[in-house]
Amino acid sequence: MPAADERAADPWDLTGELREQARRQLYRRTRVREGGTPRLRERGRELLNFCANDYLGLSEDPRVVEAARAALARDGAGSGAAHLVSGHRPEHQALEEELADWLGRERVLLFSTGYMANLGVLDALLGRADLLLQDRLNHASLLDGGRLCGARMRRYPHGDAAQAARWLASGEHRRRLLATDGVFSMDGDLAPLDALAAACAASGAWLMVDDAHGLGVLGPQGRGSVAHFGLSQTQVPVLLGTLGKAFGSFGAFVAGSEALIETLVQRARTFIYTTAAPTAQAAASRAALRIIREEPERREHLQVLIRRFRAGAESLGLALLPSATPIQPLVLGGAGAALRAAEALAAQGLLVSAIRPPTVPAGTARLRITLSAVHSEAQVDRLLEALARLRLGQAS
Ligand SMILES: *Cc1c(COP(=O)(O)O)cnc(C)c1O
Repeated sequence: MPAADERAADPWDLTGELREQARRQLYRRTRVREGGTPRLRERGRELLNFCANDYLGLSEDPRVVEAARAALARDGAGSGAAHLVSGHRPEHQALEEELADWLGRERVLLFSTGYMANLGVLDALLGRADLLLQDRLNHASLLDGGRLCGARMRRYPHGDAAQAARWLASGEHRRRLLATDGVFSMDGDLAPLDALAAACAASGAWLMVDDAHGLGVLGPQGRGSVAHFGLSQTQVPVLLGTLGKAFGSFGAFVAGSEALIETLVQRARTFIYTTAAPTAQAAASRAALRIIREEPERREHLQVLIRRFRAGAESLGLALLPSATPIQPLVLGGAGAALRAAEALAAQGLLVSAIRPPTVPAGTARLRITLSAVHSEAQVDRLLEALARLRLGQAS
C-alpha cells in the first residue's frame, strides 16, 4: 500500500481544483450587466465602463442598431445553414465586398468569430511539415490555432523581429508563416510590422496579422495597423479582423488574395462546418463600416482622450506601458493586487477589468483600461481622480 501522500489525488476532484484556483486569486466569474459603453448597470447601480473593446462606441449607434433591426425584420433571426449550403445572403456578400474595398485587398471571407477564424486559417494553411512563428504575447486563439494545425511552432520574445528573422532563416520546412497581433490585446502596443514584413520577405515566409484591436482605430480611414505601416497585400498576405470590437457588432473576417480566400473556402473547417451568422450582424457591421470610413472625428476624439489619460496618469506617477492605442494597462504584479484595485474602482462607480494569468504572464496582473470615442474628457478625469485615490503611483 502506498502512503497516503503518495496515493494519486482523485482525478475527478473538480471542486478541489476550483478551490485551489480561488485560493490563488485566479477565479473568474460572469456578472450580469446591462447597457454598454460608456455606461452600464449592475444590480441597478450605474458604472462607467472602461473595459469594453467598443472603441468607437458603435454598438449602440442608432444607425447601426437600425440596420440590424431592418435586416432582422427582412431576413429572420437565423441564416438556416452554413455559407456553402444555403446560408450565404446578399447582406453577407455585400459586407465581404465592402470590407475588401476598404482594405484594398482582393477578397474577404467572413467567419463567425475571430477565435474561429484564427483556428481555421492556421489549420487550412499549415501542417506538420511547416514552421509557425508567433509573438509570445499573441492572442490565445492564435496559439490554439498553432497547436491544432500541427506545425512546428516557436514563440519569439515580444516584438523581437531580429529573433524572428533568425528563426525564419533556419531549418528545413515546406511553408513558413509568422503570425502576430497588430495591436497587442493586453498591452496596447503595436507589433513592429515593418521589420516583421522585411524578415518574412527575406525568407519567403508569409506574414499574418490579427488586427482585432487596430481596425477602426488606427491608420487612414481606420484601416488598422497594417495600413498605419503602409503595408500591401503582398507584404501581409493574411489580414484578419474582428467585427466585435471597434465595429461594435459581432463576427470576423480574413482579407487577402483570391487564391488565399479560395483555399480557405475549400479547407477552413471553422468556415465550412458552421452556420452562417444572422444577417442582422452583417447589416450592423456594414453600417459600422460606413461610419468608420466617413467619421474620422471619432478617432480624433479617441486620440485626445488617450493623450489626456496618459498625461494625467504620468503626473500621478503611474507606470504606463508604451501604448498609443485605447488599451492603457496599469501593470500591478500580483493577481490579488489587480483584483483589489478593480474592486476599489468599482466602489467609486468605475468598471475596469483585472487581467490575471494565464491571460497575461505570471507576475504581470494588471488593470486593463480601455477608452472609447463615446467617453468624454470629464469621464476620463473621473477615472484619473479615482486612480489617484488608490495611491498606486511610485510617489505613494
Ligand atoms: C478578441 C480577439 C480575437 C477573437 O475574436 P472574437 O470575434 O471575439 O472571437 C482574436 N484575436 C484577437 C487579437 C482578439 O483580441
